[in-house]
Amino acid sequence: HLQEQDGYAPLNNDFDNFYIRRLQLRINDCFRRPVTGVPGRFITLLDRTSDDFNLSFKMTGTTTETLNMSSYNYLGFAQADGECADAAEQSIKKYGISFCSPRADAGNSELHVEVERLVAEFVGKEAATIHSMGFVTNAAVFPALVGKGCLLISDQLNHSSIRFGARLSGAVIDMFKHNDMVDLERLLRERISQGQPRTHRPWRKILVAVEGLYSMEGTMCNLPGLVALKKRYKFALYVDEAHSIGACGPRGRGVCDYFGIDPNEIDILMGTFTKSFGANGGYICGSKAMVDKIRVTNAGTIFGESPTPAVLTQIATSLRIIAGEIAPGQGEERLQRLAFNSRYLRLGLKRLGFIVYGHDDSPIIPLLLYHPAKIPAFSHEMLKRKIAVVVVGYPATPLISSRARLCVSAAHTKDDLDRLLAACDQAGDVLQLKFSSGIAGGQ
Ligand code: PMP
Repeated sequence: HLQEQDGYAPLNNDFDNFYIRRLQLRINDCFRRPVTGVPGRFITLLDRTSDDFNLSFKMTGTTTETLNMSSYNYLGFAQADGECADAAEQSIKKYGISFCSPRADAGNSELHVEVERLVAEFVGKEAATIHSMGFVTNAAVFPALVGKGCLLISDQLNHSSIRFGARLSGAVIDMFKHNDMVDLERLLRERISQGQPRTHRPWRKILVAVEGLYSMEGTMCNLPGLVALKKRYKFALYVDEAHSIGACGPRGRGVCDYFGIDPNEIDILMGTFTKSFGANGGYICGSKAMVDKIRVTNAGTIFGESPTPAVLTQIATSLRIIAGEIAPGQGEERLQRLAFNSRYLRLGLKRLGFIVYGHDDSPIIPLLLYHPAKIPAFSHEMLKRKIAVVVVGYPATPLISSRARLCVSAAHTKDDLDRLLAACDQAGDVLQLKFSSGIAGGQ
């Protein structure tokens, strides 16, 4: 109030807008309830009093166990039992909770070196460098790769961390229509022929940034198209594999594996450990020369805390399981289960008459709710049936294509997915979300 009297806007003023009102409407009903356990196949949420619409709602002290369709636990490694959890526990006993230092100081352990070796090998690149956050990986690495006089061309639907890093870099930024190779080529032709703004000098570097699998759409990037354009226009290519690493391709090695493309065709393969590996942090893979340069020029590694021991061990163990080095057969089984579950659920929803977005092999399944008013209603209907889903709307999506984003996991059983389909069927009737015939109905 003092600030207002002095003629200044209070610091929280900008937030007194759409977002606050959205929260007050309890749009994401289930995730305003704190989670009380592992975000695995099931997730337990704290209950709260149902009549309280305020931000400071009251907890009742009871909990509800729900089927978890919300966490990015694609391969089921978020479970708190099994090889990963056992190894992480040992790791804490040996190294403690934190290295209490950035990599550039005293925070560079044998675990970091080992994880970087494993990641590079898994992704199929010469070298890797890791960060304690996926968001920071993008935010810190774009400024280390490009700057003034460079052109950064970004897919229109790229994640906020890419946009953040792009803006910090100082490069000229352009966007092409989501996954549209014709639009990308048009932009490349225009920009290359015009050169840098005002001076018309050639660009110092041209970098095209895309995602492997888009988390709001479930679309996969057109990697063959991008590689073909890269050969013609000689740009560098950056692929953020946050959602595709571990989840796409017969060996879980991301979009290169999926499309049968040599990872060396792509300059930078970035990814996160928060999804398929049930851990934390991000990585950058590329040539040794590029990775060595990034290591010493990005602020995240130099000034930020290094990844922690239990997290590193979780990453190393899950990578080894997927690669078949530990518990032979288990990694393959997880990959197959995820692939089956993704297709089974997508097809089941289409058969019921829902509109779902995305690639047939995507473990992210956006289910269209359309009108924003149906966002809290769908969340509520699912919660009534003890299923936790993430629902998203404007401004994360266009106003009229609000959606529920279902995340499939290898931890789900066929019965879980049948239970979900039955719940969606009922909620779809209540909220009139279905097109009566369904795509496979043939009427
Ligand atoms: N890139 C993409 C494409 C993402 O979807 C996310 C987060 N979901 C990130 C980067 C940031 O990763 P993290 O949440 O691990 O910090």
